[in-house]
Amino acid sequence: MEEKKRETITSRVLVIGGGLGGIRTAVDLAEAERTVLLVDRARTIGGLMTQLDRTFPTNNCDLCTLAPYLSEGSHRKRIEILTMSTVIDITGEKGHFNATIQTAPRYINQDKCTGCGICYEAFPDCVHFDPGLDHRAPTCMRYPQATPQAFSIDPAACHDIEALVNVCPAGAIVPDDSGRHCQISCGAVVMSPGAALFEPTGLDYLGYDAFPDVVTSLEYERLLSASGPTTGQLVRPSNGRPPEKIAWIQCIGSRGIQKGAAASCSSACCMFALKEAIITKERFRQDIETTIFYMDMRTFGKDYEHYLARARDEFGVRLIRSRPHSITQAEGEEGLILDYTSETCTEKMTEPFDMVVLATGFRIDRETAVLAEKIGIELNEDNYPVTAPFNAVATSRPGVYVAGTFQEPKDIPETMVQASAAACMAVRDTAPAAADDTEIVSLPPERNVAGEEPKIGVFIGDCGEDNGKGIDGEQLVAYARTLNGVIHAASVEQGCTRVLMEAIRQAIDEQGLNRLVIGGGSPRVSETAFQELMRQAGLNKYLVEIANIRDQAAWVHGHQPDQALQKAKELIAMAVGSVARARPLVDKRLPVIKEALVVGGGVAGMTAALELAGQGFRVYLVEKTAELGGVARFLKQTLEKHDVQSFISDLVYRTRTEKRIEIITAASIVDHSGMVGMFKTEIVNDNKPARRQIVHGVTIIATGARPNRPAHYLLGSSERVMTQLELQERAFARPKEVAAWDNVVMIQCVGSRTGDNPNCSRICCQAAIKNAIKILEINPEARVFVLYRDIRTYGFQEKYYQKARELGAVFIRYTVDVPPEVTEVNGRIDVSFIDPIMNREVTVSADSLVLSTGLIADSSTNKAWSSIFKLPLTDDNYLQEDHVKLRPIDLPVPGFFVAGTAHAPKTITESVTQARAAASRAIAILTKDSITVGAAVAQVDGSICASCLICVRACPFGIPFINADGYSEIDPAQCHGCGVCVAECPAKAIQLMQFEDDRILAKLEELFERTVA
Ligand SMILES: Cc1cc2nc3c(=O)[nH]c(=O)nc-3n(C[C@H](O)[C@H](O)[C@H](O)COP(=O)(O)OP(=O)(O)OC[C@H]3O[C@@H](n4cnc5c(N)ncnc54)[C@H](O)[C@@H]3O)c2cc1C
Repeated sequence: MEEKKRETITSRVLVIGGGLGGIRTAVDLAEAERTVLLVDRARTIGGLMTQLDRTFPTNNCDLCTLAPYLSEGSHRKRIEILTMSTVIDITGEKGHFNATIQTAPRYINQDKCTGCGICYEAFPDCVHFDPGLDHRAPTCMRYPQATPQAFSIDPAACHDIEALVNVCPAGAIVPDDSGRHCQISCGAVVMSPGAALFEPTGLDYLGYDAFPDVVTSLEYERLLSASGPTTGQLVRPSNGRPPEKIAWIQCIGSRGIQKGAAASCSSACCMFALKEAIITKERFRQDIETTIFYMDMRTFGKDYEHYLARARDEFGVRLIRSRPHSITQAEGEEGLILDYTSETCTEKMTEPFDMVVLATGFRIDRETAVLAEKIGIELNEDNYPVTAPFNAVATSRPGVYVAGTFQEPKDIPETMVQASAAACMAVRDTAPAAADDTEIVSLPPERNVAGEEPKIGVFIGDCGEDNGKGIDGEQLVAYARTLNGVIHAASVEQGCTRVLMEAIRQAIDEQGLNRLVIGGGSPRVSETAFQELMRQAGLNKYLVEIANIRDQAAWVHGHQPDQALQKAKELIAMAVGSVARARPLVDKRLPVIKEALVVGGGVAGMTAALELAGQGFRVYLVEKTAELGGVARFLKQTLEKHDVQSFISDLVYRTRTEKRIEIITAASIVDHSGMVGMFKTEIVNDNKPARRQIVHGVTIIATGARPNRPAHYLLGSSERVMTQLELQERAFARPKEVAAWDNVVMIQCVGSRTGDNPNCSRICCQAAIKNAIKILEINPEARVFVLYRDIRTYGFQEKYYQKARELGAVFIRYTVDVPPEVTEVNGRIDVSFIDPIMNREVTVSADSLVLSTGLIADSSTNKAWSSIFKLPLTDDNYLQEDHVKLRPIDLPVPGFFVAGTAHAPKTITESVTQARAAASRAIAILTKDSITVGAAVAQVDGSICASCLICVRACPFGIPFINADGYSEIDPAQCHGCGVCVAECPAKAIQLMQFEDDRILAKLEELFERTVA
């Protein structure tokens, strides 16, 4: 029976919700050769992202962030998208589910609709389009990249349905369309339906119902957005005039503050308020006054503390720690009046503002809760899913996984990581898809352009405000037309969209273009899409060059339009000069070694290794110490009271007994070469002098971070001073000793958020609260004082903060300028600090002082192995991911992924999630027999090579060798394309394809010799 079931396991995964979480899950699954049915109840996929203007921490345009996921990449062939649909029932069990899906009528045949918009122009009332500020309005085609690219009709709003049908040139309107039910089988389900936002209606003191200039954060994003109701012009909804003074009020509908608010912290609001304030100043006017009223500034993510510092110091965003009491309006006046108390609560303040933005938090709406109940997953008191201990993506129903803001409030990078982790779990329950006949994407044969004069087309994309801000697109187009080889130049209103793609495609055909220059955003985001377009147009994909006029001209010279235009002209001229000399190139395909190297044997490393082994791949797990387990070995319980020790023991046992994992302890990495699919890494074992070489297709780095132990506040010199880690150990090992303590003081941010370590250690607030609760459970009479700067109990951690306060813990704020002072007096610890409410110095004589010292990257070890692997580190020596939002688990060297605290401080459960996400990304490579690795490789011209051996010595990967004919040879399958040999070769006998000397020189000539008018 078991055998039979296994045979019938389907390759299909049902993904509910097509926001960023659902899309990322679907893409990962497709890359791991699973088929995906992605259902979304909205008319287009994209979720919340389609409504945001730009997103932190990189502040780029969101539609551009989504674009790579929406483009027709080859792996998207395994993803079927069903919009206006939702799941109404799921029966069966893991591996063998049956889902019933209901689809509402669209009254448009999606296959026929070309998105031309004629129906909307002729019958705007029947074709939903303009949502105004309402993000929930039943819109479609809200933005140019909308997927699917098809309108929808509201027949009830149409008076002449026949005329509407006739207006469509494609015959796509189906007036008698009706709703449908369908049944599908699937092996796993991933729910990523997102979260709704708190409705501030009815809270009269906030004036949301009464005053148009009081808006929610999402409405403010709509106002900023080029696809919003004001086409990106920041104006007051009440009078259409630009605001001079804007206030943000945090924690609306979060942290249990208002009636109906969720108990959790919404995690993303502090950062998105800072972002909105920065963008307001950056994009509109520096002198617009922006003030954020907050309770605790929760910038706990990787490098988010820098973002906060930039907002405050570089952009002058005013931060006031206070909860405004009410928003009113004086009779006959247009301005809004905010009443609040000063930070010390001693003064009543009144201040006028033009607009107020309410940072409304996440909550689960009724419809989603009902769906979750139907699917049969357990929900918590706020209707978020209850997930398994140490597995934040596994619900109470086996085979049903969750990701994104539906699981817990979170931001984009964390949504992306969790989505990949959910994909990893779903891969376990499904089988790879059989060879799929839809796989052959029919592309026209490549036109041979050899011998043709360059016929270059230049397209200047105007991504709303991005390029448009400081750059006159028309002048740029006129200038491009004067450049040699350019036979067509055009400004395309909506950059990086299908409309643009279609326009370019048409121009290639009509004008016979053989090369393209795109003046737009970063090639990292859009290059693949334009390369795909070239292939579809029958041209070699390397005959396109992208001039990044958005980042390198519009953004850096945002307030200097003349300089921005000048720089953009130079960038376009350089790209034209270079592309004119571009040669058609052929991508390399490399076989994949289906084995993985995992470096680091802590929680993250073991989890990643087990996931990979579970998929049938051999794993080498290299650990530098003699034991597996890492820092978690010293932890007893999580904040949620999950038993860490039994979790670790089980993980170690499963790792040790998994036959596909080879554990190599007491070992270090000493050498590394090769490329994705075929790496070679050398290790030495402390006990064996001989080196050992491991060959592997992918590498996961999970080397962790170490508990910080700065010599502050008598740590190391007094018995009574300890870290949170040491306190937990003592509380479990010697509870009687802890029970005897009357006064305990904890100091937060010791060694974090300081000059030498500016970032937040993320884990310390929850650790202090966990231990404060533990002490108060052991001795309810104890007095626990927590001296903090901001309490950062994000997400569900907030309820434990409330609990600690209910149990009697006292939280007292200190500022970085006036930190607590600590002295040892008669064997006790005196801690003095300023109480901000009384504005007086207070001294507590403590039985013990507990320091929240957080985590710190092991700088010397990390520097050593990162230089062997050629991986960049951040300023504080954590691994730098390839792209914070698009590729938060991928490292810049293809085939390398990061998991756990090697990336940044995080909790055990977060490390486990990231480990699964890293495994998912690695599986995408390992499942393939061969992979395409681009064409940028070094090529030797043997006729001028002097066999001087300089390239042989210079190559960091040891690839060049002198061949039997006596000249240097470089195996394209092994070359990393770093260009070191090219720079070193004295005979100029080596060229780096895609960056050949003549192309670089052409760029320089354009820059220096051409008079750029
Ligand atoms: C005002 C604001 C600003 C923000 N700014 C930033 C920022 O700058 N940077 C950042 O990192 N994060 C930001 N965030 C957070 C970010 O938007 C989220 O982390 C992210 O979009 C969550 O993605 P998701 O896929 O989980 O959910 P969503 O994007 O909400 O997607 C959920 C999808 O599921 C669909 N769906 C719902 N129910 C069903 C159902 N029953 N059946 C089928 N489909 C369903 C929905 O239609 C939707 O398409 C911001 C959030 C807000 C509110």
